[in-house]
Amino acid sequence: MAIRQLPDDLVNKIAAGEVVERPASVVKELVENALDAGAKRIAITTAAGGKSLIRIEDDGHGMDEADLALSVERHATSKLKDDGLDDIRTLGFRGEALASIGSVSDLSIASRTREAETGLKISLKRGVKSGPVPHPINRGTIVEVKNLFADIPARLKFLKTDRAETGAITDVVKRLAMAHRGVHFVLSGTDRQPINWPAQTGDNAVHARLAQIIGADFPENAQQIGFSRGGIVVGGLAGLPTYSRANTLNQFYFVNGRSVRDKVLLGAVRAAYADFLHRDRFPVIALFVAIDPGEVDVNVHPTKAELRFRDQGAVRGAVIRAIGEALAAAGFRASSSVAE
Ligand code: ADP
Ligand code: MG
Repeated sequence: MAIRQLPDDLVNKIAAGEVVERPASVVKELVENALDAGAKRIAITTAAGGKSLIRIEDDGHGMDEADLALSVERHATSKLKDDGLDDIRTLGFRGEALASIGSVSDLSIASRTREAETGLKISLKRGVKSGPVPHPINRGTIVEVKNLFADIPARLKFLKTDRAETGAITDVVKRLAMAHRGVHFVLSGTDRQPINWPAQTGDNAVHARLAQIIGADFPENAQQIGFSRGGIVVGGLAGLPTYSRANTLNQFYFVNGRSVRDKVLLGAVRAAYADFLHRDRFPVIALFVAIDPGEVDVNVHPTKAELRFRDQGAVRGAVIRAIGEALAAAGFRASSSVAE
């Protein structure tokens, strides 16, 4: 047996297997980068369910020449301080998305900072880098991903129909747009109906954004959540028990601006509605939890869709109380004392 260090391009491909499962995961990583760059408008264009083209244009802070060259290197990130993973405030932090995406597609990144006189563009064709070369664009960044998984038949085979992949992309953008209401999102492409969600600001932003995305009748059949205890802030809209569904497809959970799947939150919502809904009915809900970043570990899953609360009981209790108070204000008072 001989052990050898794997070459970089192979390491990147292996990492891509974890981060880049399907076109929607590429869109998630790229839109998160745009949000981390402070973008106020993000335009997403796709073709063939994202298999032939994903293009993300943002008006964020852009990258200078040195950063642009580094951005596609593995473990290169501007977002993590040397002292570690305890205080993550950005959506990204692993510094592997662009390197991974570039290893399984034809990737190009054009970017321009406020100070720069012109933009610059670099390309990675199946892992081979070229540029930066001058490229005239406005301030911000344009990332194009073409021919995703084109030379990885095993991956391509597991993708669903273009229609299903487009649907998954819409779902990812939906969740990001719910959490980032002050950002204008535009979705277009040959494979879809265009979507335009202008930025929402001010007191009514939560309602207005959720009405844009889920539909106007959700806010009309929901109660605003507003609760804070022990450094845990819970907000969003709790659908009335009279507006329930047969599945959890219309439940949206966020922790510190990140869409998550989490058993603690799911369980808390279930408990909060237990008195009002039959076991096979589920509320529509958009739940936003804000908590000290040091109280949650987001580094448990490559796509960061899962997390771990340090004090699960405190989070569960706060969510149950938050929803309980909202529902009580709408006239739904829990009869028994629901276990927090
Ligand atoms: P991460 O987001 O985990 O840092 P990425 O591979 O996604 O890793 O990106 C690497 C780096 O490239 C980021 O840390 C950031 O500095 C830069 N970058 C990526 N996308 C953008 C963008 N749209 N605008 C500005 N900078 C970007
Ligand atoms: Mg990133």
